[in-house]
Amino acid sequence: MAEGLLTKIFYLTARTTTRKAAEDTFSLLVENGIAIKTVTITAKEKICFQENTICAKEQCEYSDGYYDRVNGAVLDVLSNENIIDRETIERYARKHRLCPFEYSLDLASISDAIICDYNYVFDPRVSLKRLMEEQKRRTVLLVDEAHNLVERARSMFSAELVKSVYLQLKRTYKDRDNEIFTLSKKLNQYFIDLKKRCESEKANRFTDVPRELIGLLKQFTDSTEEYLLSQSGESDQELLEAYFAAQNFTRIADLYDERFTVYTEISRNEVLIKIFCLDPSHLLTKIAKGFRSRIHFSATLNPLSYYVDMLGGEENDYSISIASPFSPEQTEVYIKQISTRFRDRESSKNEIIAMIRSLLSGRKGNYLVFFPSYQYMNMIYEDILLDSKFQTIIQTPAMTDEERDAFLAAFKRENDSVFVGFAVMGGIFSEGIDLKGDRLNGVIVVGVGMPQIGFERDIIKEYFVRQGKNGFDYAYVYPGMNKVLQSGGRLIRSEEDHGLIVLTDDRFLNKKYQAMLPENWRNFTII
Ligand code: SF4
Repeated sequence: MAEGLLTKIFYLTARTTTRKAAEDTFSLLVENGIAIKTVTITAKEKICFQENTICAKEQCEYSDGYYDRVNGAVLDVLSNENIIDRETIERYARKHRLCPFEYSLDLASISDAIICDYNYVFDPRVSLKRLMEEQKRRTVLLVDEAHNLVERARSMFSAELVKSVYLQLKRTYKDRDNEIFTLSKKLNQYFIDLKKRCESEKANRFTDVPRELIGLLKQFTDSTEEYLLSQSGESDQELLEAYFAAQNFTRIADLYDERFTVYTEISRNEVLIKIFCLDPSHLLTKIAKGFRSRIHFSATLNPLSYYVDMLGGEENDYSISIASPFSPEQTEVYIKQISTRFRDRESSKNEIIAMIRSLLSGRKGNYLVFFPSYQYMNMIYEDILLDSKFQTIIQTPAMTDEERDAFLAAFKRENDSVFVGFAVMGGIFSEGIDLKGDRLNGVIVVGVGMPQIGFERDIIKEYFVRQGKNGFDYAYVYPGMNKVLQSGGRLIRSEEDHGLIVLTDDRFLNKKYQAMLPENWRNFTII
């Protein structure tokens, strides 16, 4: 940047919690004399000042007169702040009575560094296209925790619709708006016919997006848009959501090629159709084209060739592996030779419980035990509870920010007894959390983290087999091992940390899995 080759940095993160690391780093640079302005973008629904996010100026005082006040607010913040994080945005937005989200976007267009979610660059629904086009060539993309981008991109480039939405709209708009009623009726009928066709042909996969559906959806979005614009006051949430879903589906349909598939899921009262992106690499490359460069980084890009392939890299792209800054002596590594395969879970349960008890009795401190699924975790947890020697806490699905903070706060320093947290791999506690020092003394990983065998995973597998690759590894093994490495990576967060890692599965002794373990986990003891 100092040499004038770059004017902008996008620091892209997978989750809110990891933005702090970027903000802290820029703060350090500022303290050491760099002249830079950074802004953090927080999702609209999170940062919105209103209880209901209805942005019409009649409904929101922060939207009404926004453009009269924004210039003063931009000058104010730029004259006083360098690191414009969420709290700073909120403070100045309140002071100048501005929508905090729009304000952050306006600041982004003139800041040197933007810290935001992946989707502001890669997601066709929300990307800041206009903002980026002008400065692309002099902008670098820094993709943090890039291993997450594979699955995130897959979901950004996929779209689905369900029949029940149109049935409901047909009922609601019968006496309200004839055009929306008629189109909802046609869409509902389309799904009924689709169901019959799938049942009679005994098929649920298509090689192309049904053009008839796209035609209907385009008519639906045009009419809905006209209707919504003609309405003053509160918009109908149901219709708005259907509008965005239809718009997204048609947008993704335009991207469709051999790297996608279309499938349906049919139950008694519901029909779902999904355009599913199998391989996001091509689109990631296409979107990133034109930027000065993009740099992906993560502690767990292993095997590197898989991530280079999936993130749209090429053979000759630069890659740098940096050795762990921590010494192997900081970690005692154990491998428990036992099967955690789905079919063996019931029979190996008691041995795993006995192992956890014997490993932790006689020790003190805080431990995390990670499982591949809630179901498996709950099965073991219920029996561990019978042992009153340990204090425990357990992760539940969809925890609020407060519940998440309480879970982490329970890991206290200088704990003289044994405290055990139960969590799932790939969840909010297996990545992006820092329990430094003796707040975490050990991690037990149960299983190799593989996603459950399922329909979508199997189509991914088939696709990569057709490409001449190891489909099973691409669909199951590599994503699974990434979760293992991330979970285990919670243990050592500084040069002062020490602790134990227990890898519980016989597959960790296989050559293939061994090759994916970090250097400092390779000196292990089999138990
Ligand atoms: S304009 Fe901003 S503050 Fe107002 S409702 Fe929309 S997002 Fe919320």
